[in-house]
Amino acid sequence: MRLRIEHIKKSYGKTVALADFSAELGNGIYALLGPNGSGKSTLLNILTDNLKQDAGHIYMDGEDIVKLGAGFRKRLGFMPQFPGLYPNFSAENYLRYMAVLKGLPKERYMEEIKELLTTLGLDGVSNHRISSFSGGMKQRLAIAQALLGGPDLIILDEPTAGLDPMQRIAVRNLLSRISAEKTVIIGTHIVSDVELIAKQVIFLKKGVIIENSSVAHALEQIRGRVWQIHIDAAQASSALSKYIVSTVQKDDFGFAVRLISAEKPCEDAIPVQPSLEDCYTFHYNT
Ligand code: ADP
Ligand code: MG
Repeated sequence: MRLRIEHIKKSYGKTVALADFSAELGNGIYALLGPNGSGKSTLLNILTDNLKQDAGHIYMDGEDIVKLGAGFRKRLGFMPQFPGLYPNFSAENYLRYMAVLKGLPKERYMEEIKELLTTLGLDGVSNHRISSFSGGMKQRLAIAQALLGGPDLIILDEPTAGLDPMQRIAVRNLLSRISAEKTVIIGTHIVSDVELIAKQVIFLKKGVIIENSSVAHALEQIRGRVWQIHIDAAQASSALSKYIVSTVQKDDFGFAVRLISAEKPCEDAIPVQPSLEDCYTFHYNT
């Protein structure tokens, strides 16, 4: 599947949410990264034909998605940032209902719903009402409905919000497993959720693409600028305000600090391999 996004623009009154977004996507996982307000949800809602853009077009395998209409929606699985689940349905009935809406044949979806509920750790509560679910359980159910029917294009907006670390790993592995023959777009501000599985990263800043490249290439941009230093507790606040700090980790002597700097920040700084987290810090702190 190929998705071609051409010159998408969207403003809300005077707020420009997307300036001029173009990209070409194939199979694999694409991470759409950026802090709150950078335009991720706006783009994902437009890509799923849930919001009308001011200008621009989106083509799936060469055909405009608006013209494809139902044909496009058949190949799409979408989890919005604030999914509206039906509180009085059980998890299983909700998924059956979604399967019917998607026009899936019954002999197929019954088995698939069982599998999805198991994979997402909801098999024990499949007959419980959604209103009794925790935030994380609702989140996993929303992911399940997006994957239902094995769509070619899967778009997930902040899928891991409210999940605990083990659930995050489970979702990450699941997406990684299914991504070989599908286009998966994940909008998130949590770098660690996509660092290991994304083929391509798109950094958005105030509606503008500031980087669209492979993970390896994104890391290459900051190679030689990531340093680790050790500081004691007394130095901490002055050191942290002086540098662009990526991560701070407590160690036996004080803190191990990863920071971004074009020049060696101090005598005993050690150069380290860049991570996507460093990349994110670099893009959004300068
Ligand atoms: P993100 O998903 O990256 O947090 P959004 O796409 O939600 O970003 O928002 C991008 C910008 O558009 C923000 O400045 C936000 O305040 C604004 N915005 C989003 N939705 C609306 C709306 N319905 N009405 C007015 N402004 C909006
Ligand atoms: Mg959002």
